[in-house]
Amino acid sequence: MTALEHSNAIVIVGASHSGVAAAAELRSLGCTRPIVLIGEEEGAPYHRPHLSKECLSSDMPAPAPLRAADFYSKRDISHRGGMRVTAVDRARRRVTCADGEEIAYGDLILATGAGASQLPATVDPRGRVVTLRHAIDWARVRQAFEQQSSLVVVGGGLIGLEAAAAACARGIAVTVVEAGDRLMARSIYPELAAEVLRRHQDAGVTILLSQSLNRVEADGVMLASGVRIAGDLVLAAIGSRPHADLAQAAGLAVADGIVVDPQGRTGDLHIYALGDCAAWRRHDGSIIRHESIAATHWQARCVAAAITGQAPPQDAPFKLWSTQGSMRLQMSGPVVAGASTHLEAVAGGMLLRAFQDKRLIAVQAIDAPRSFNAEVGRIGALESEFDEAALASSEARI
Ligand SMILES: Cc1cc2nc3c(=O)[nH]c(=O)nc-3n(C[C@H](O)[C@H](O)[C@H](O)COP(=O)(O)OP(=O)(O)OC[C@H]3O[C@@H](n4cnc5c(N)ncnc54)[C@H](O)[C@@H]3O)c2cc1C
Repeated sequence: MTALEHSNAIVIVGASHSGVAAAAELRSLGCTRPIVLIGEEEGAPYHRPHLSKECLSSDMPAPAPLRAADFYSKRDISHRGGMRVTAVDRARRRVTCADGEEIAYGDLILATGAGASQLPATVDPRGRVVTLRHAIDWARVRQAFEQQSSLVVVGGGLIGLEAAAAACARGIAVTVVEAGDRLMARSIYPELAAEVLRRHQDAGVTILLSQSLNRVEADGVMLASGVRIAGDLVLAAIGSRPHADLAQAAGLAVADGIVVDPQGRTGDLHIYALGDCAAWRRHDGSIIRHESIAATHWQARCVAAAITGQAPPQDAPFKLWSTQGSMRLQMSGPVVAGASTHLEAVAGGMLLRAFQDKRLIAVQAIDAPRSFNAEVGRIGALESEFDEAALASSEARI
């Protein structure tokens, strides 16, 4: 059993977008304490969004590394891959790894992310269902794409639709089964979702809304409605589950993620959490588990600022993107029931603005990066500042 000499080390558990961003931010804020970045996955931390985009839709052979190979050594960040942390001892300020090694910390950052939600075991008795979260999942899905001729995607969210579009472009017959009455309900407004639906259908993807899965069969799936869908492969893309077990076992508050304050602090003065594993409390008291790259970067700045005793960054709406076949979607701001929305045709694509309490709260676009970038900076502006004629021509309410 070994322990680091430095009890002022900052130990980060999880070496993906959040963990790497936290280490980078700490160094850029001038922190000189030892930083140990522990990650369960083998190899260099990589761009997770590539798994459902470039790595499926193009011949990109593997997701690109997050940082150059010498990034870690140049900043004196000790990256330890292929290593799982199994316990946190808060009283002794130590983490224990799967091989029994103990590592002492002064401050601990939990960046353990999330895992793909699985279909109930009874639904998949033969283990034919795949998910897409880690590079090893992607390798399996990509191989299956080369061998199979039909695919059922369960879940019409961002990852499911990206995979569906990529499979369809490869000549695979794709059916998307979505339990809700529209696509991407968590991230886009209904008018844009209708356009996304139309475009996937035009590309040849079969989309079944308001349908849920009953069971997986030898050659496809059976829906609760009694309809049978043929499919050699089933991709479950039904959301994610935060990795909060370590925190829970250590007695920290957990509620759909590790509960933290607006700077990423848990109830323990020496433990922080960020990224997909964190239930982040905002200044207005609401708690949200953000699942986006933009959120990981912003939260990394918050945590690094808290640890180094500096001012936190300003709140800013996060940007999210999705590439589905030839369609590029961009989103910023929440999807709020009751918001009034305005959809506009703009050069090359479509732009949607959402207003609540007479202020712009969200901007979303399909194939309109210029308009999106121009409008996104106006989030928070008064509705009266917008061109009334354009808004009146497209008003809708969800
Ligand atoms: C296929 C896919 C496509 C996506 N596309 C987009 C997109 O287009 N845009 C966007 O903004 N976001 C996208 N996302 C979401 C984005 O990738 C996540 O928000 C981001 O990866 C969160 O980073 P994280 O570091 O918090 O967690 P994760 O990326 O989940 O990483 C957590 C890491 O911690 C490790 N870990 C967990 N427990 C332990 C432990 N006990 N010991 C050691 N290591 C541990 C895990 O193995 C993992 O490597 C996508 C996600 C997926 C899966």
